[in-house]
Amino acid sequence: MTITTRPASTPLNIDGVVVSPDHYINGERVAAEQTFALYSPIDQRLLGQVACGSSEQVDMAITAAAAAFPHWSALSAEERQRYLNRFADEIGKRADDFCVLESNDAGVLLSRMRHGVVPRAMQNIRYFAEHALQLQNRTLETPQALHRIRHDPAGVVAIITPWNAPLMLTTWKLGPALAAGNTVVVKPPEWAPLTCSLLADAADAAGLPAGVLNIVQGEGASTGNHLISDPRLARISFTGSVPTARHIAQVAGGNLVPCSLELGGKSPFIVLDDADLDNAAATAALMYRNAGQVCLAGTRLLVDEKVVDTFVGLLRGYVEKLQVGDPRDESTEVGPIIHPRQIERVQGFVDRAREQGAQILWGGAAHHAGAQYFQPTLVTGVEQHAEIVQSEVFGPVLTLQTFSAVEEAITLANDSDYGLGGICYGATERATAVAEHIHTGFIWVNSFGIRDLAAPFGGCKRSGIGREGGEWSFEFFCDIKDVVVPRQPFRASFSHR
Ligand code: NAD
Repeated sequence: MTITTRPASTPLNIDGVVVSPDHYINGERVAAEQTFALYSPIDQRLLGQVACGSSEQVDMAITAAAAAFPHWSALSAEERQRYLNRFADEIGKRADDFCVLESNDAGVLLSRMRHGVVPRAMQNIRYFAEHALQLQNRTLETPQALHRIRHDPAGVVAIITPWNAPLMLTTWKLGPALAAGNTVVVKPPEWAPLTCSLLADAADAAGLPAGVLNIVQGEGASTGNHLISDPRLARISFTGSVPTARHIAQVAGGNLVPCSLELGGKSPFIVLDDADLDNAAATAALMYRNAGQVCLAGTRLLVDEKVVDTFVGLLRGYVEKLQVGDPRDESTEVGPIIHPRQIERVQGFVDRAREQGAQILWGGAAHHAGAQYFQPTLVTGVEQHAEIVQSEVFGPVLTLQTFSAVEEAITLANDSDYGLGGICYGATERATAVAEHIHTGFIWVNSFGIRDLAAPFGGCKRSGIGREGGEWSFEFFCDIKDVVVPRQPFRASFSHR
């Protein structure tokens, strides 16, 4: 195919790391007529201008992906695995650059990038490439026939991700989508687009055939909307907010394109009276990680009234020690809020709660580290129906409620439109029994954040539709086909059903 390209834009230089602000379509960098300004959450400095994809550029990307599909989907899973392992190797070679970029544009802690996110991004690619090998040759034997169950690649997949974990979430979707034999168009988040751009460099260096992976930068309402509206898509895999998901589901519904939707959360964190309170408090302090911009954080503390004073005292001790500041500093534990708009939003939630009679046990205002930083905050004296209990704040703000009986804790925990995750601390058997009554996609007992790529991940209620991870990712990214071969010679007759 022919692509009309403009000369590549001057690369951005972010703390010494050079990265392209352009799209990556059909194996080439493509500049855009329109751009958007990208600012760092660390200090609001301008990082540069990034391409904003037009409808024509989205069309080019989908056309490139569709053209690459027959070849990529016809490769064996082993051949695709070789490409994808090289892709993971190339991500590894750029590990330091990924850390610098996402720390600068998303405000993720550099230390977390280095030790958690980048290794996980590589694992996302390798794990699904390996897992795809097992998808072949599944056979179901029935008395009448052999059913060869095939996981056929679906076609061109759109991947849309949010700003709070762009590298992790994009690779978590890319791994299974590509391993299954699909070709992909990614629309990165406009507030944190740089690591996705670097992914294109890694794919290019790994020799991924042109058009297999395309990246179209841009804003959600324009570029994103052009992408989801294209009827050539076979799947849309989206992680982000509920309002955007509603829109995507409506548009995709019009074209009957299946969507996977991973959305927000307002997860309960239950502390029973027989919990290891110090352990529970140390884990609760972790909810302030990434400045609370974590979908699966347990932001609603529900604590047995018999132990609440001890628990709050212990939690206060941990929170007072938290280092808030520049995410590039190795000692920082809580970084910035992504955007001034989000700071206003977080402050608005806290102010309205205060006006409605809530008490702020700590925090509640901007942090002295700078305009983009918010103090870890605990709000109590809140009614169950209060906005701050029911809405996702997506900032370093937890609420505290008490209960007198376990049944009450379960009722409070389940009284939410969201159903992503949860945490329950208590004597293991009792906490596990409570966990089983919580209506969420997953729940951690006496722990937090343990995730395995083989395990299902996703939410109930307004927290999403579908599951990702292990075989669930392949169920979504594949068309499942039953090739039926009769055991006995088959002779057509009207008596057959
Ligand atoms: P968002 O919905 O505003 O944006 C997410 C992505 O959608 C961005 O790339 C954006 O450009 C794009 N987008 C926006 N409008 C669009 C449109 N009309 N058409 C197509 N694309 C469009 O969400 P956000 O503010 O970036 O992210 C925060 C939300 O993501 C929170 O609710 C958080 O809980 C959720 N989240 C969920 C998970 C999960 O796994 N469940 C993980 C991380 C974040």
